[in-house]
Amino acid sequence: MADAVIMTPASGACAGDFLAWLDAILASFSSGQGAVVPCGDCRACCRAGYFIPVRHHEWATLAVIPRGLLVHPPGTSGEGDYLIGTTRRGDCAMLRPQGCPIYARRPQACRNYDCRIFTAAGIPSGHDAIDRQAGRWRFQYGSDHGWLVHAAVKQAARFVIDHARAFPGGRVPEQAADIALVALKAHPVFLGPMDGYATDAAVARAVVRACRVFDATGRLVSGGAP
Ligand code: SF4
Repeated sequence: MADAVIMTPASGACAGDFLAWLDAILASFSSGQGAVVPCGDCRACCRAGYFIPVRHHEWATLAVIPRGLLVHPPGTSGEGDYLIGTTRRGDCAMLRPQGCPIYARRPQACRNYDCRIFTAAGIPSGHDAIDRQAGRWRFQYGSDHGWLVHAAVKQAARFVIDHARAFPGGRVPEQAADIALVALKAHPVFLGPMDGYATDAAVARAVVRACRVFDATGRLVSGGAP
């Protein structure tokens, strides 16, 4: 939908330098400017059955979406935020054969979406078409450090999935995208030696703290003392 995909010799799609990508996507969380994804002609995320949220303050977007395609989120009525519905096939109701007709004014949720988060975290999205695209991305590494950081992101995602009970109340995100975001924010916890953490619960606390610090300040931290 944006730039042309740059193919690698291994027939994957070039996802860019891992560290540069990580910096950019973390910065996009804070700035709200969204991700720049070389989607090419891929429309997988527009066809994944997602109900696309449109916040009440996204006036420019709401102005170009026919009201009949908008629904209110379950449990709400009349006022406030909206969702773009889907077709029976699970396509976004705005999608047309030639692409998204409101691309320049697409919702913030679409601007934020970057399926490389699943490649980065090493977890499936839960949608076949997105997983096919995520499986094609190939990150590049300009140094061993880049490779180690990527390994830490994957380890963070794996920890959240495998050790949900170690988290307060046993609560971890249910959606793969949210698990991937936790992994991006909390990966520094897994960069250093893990033997300083006495228990999985101590690791989980460090993950929670790292996410909270990132959400509050935009800074990456290792989670503090175990
Ligand atoms: S609004 Fe446009 S970019 Fe967003 S999911 Fe629908 S068709 Fe795709």
